[in-house]
Amino acid sequence: MKTNILLRFLAIIPLVAGFAACQKNPSAPKITLTEVGHENGGKAEQGDDLHLEADIVAEGLIQRIHVEIHQENGSYEIEKSYTTGKYIGVKNTEFHEHVDIPADAPLDAYHLHLTVTDKEGQTATAKAHLEVIENDGNDDEEEHHHED
Ligand SMILES: [Zn+2]
Ligand SMILES: [Zn+2]
Repeated sequence: MKTNILLRFLAIIPLVAGFAACQKNPSAPKITLTEVGHENGGKAEQGDDLHLEADIVAEGLIQRIHVEIHQENGSYEIEKSYTTGKYIGVKNTEFHEHVDIPADAPLDAYHLHLTVTDKEGQTATAKAHLEVIENDGNDDEEEHHHED
């Protein structure tokens, strides 16, 4: 009986070793920025928020999504991180968030970076151009509520 158990145990070893050898790193996250601003207009109003949509595929599972908006020729910066919630721990998602644009954000050209980090520590960044424009006083919330 004892030999039998030992033989079984020995038979498992190559199996485990073979499995370990086959494992490779999942590929890095892929991001497609689908909408920056309503209708992908690349504009956000002061004191309003920026509508942002992206398709994200992360074989290594999403760990963190980070949005950075910085002035192209200046030091003004807006940052927002998502580390909990529906996007985290999944392989693919449709990211849809609104980032607050403070009323004192200078009217200027900005650069947006959307960075995704997976659980393996691999990152990918998608970039876009963005303009902060004057608030027209209309409540855009009503206009852009879309069902998809
Ligand atoms: Zn939206
Ligand atoms: Zn930049």
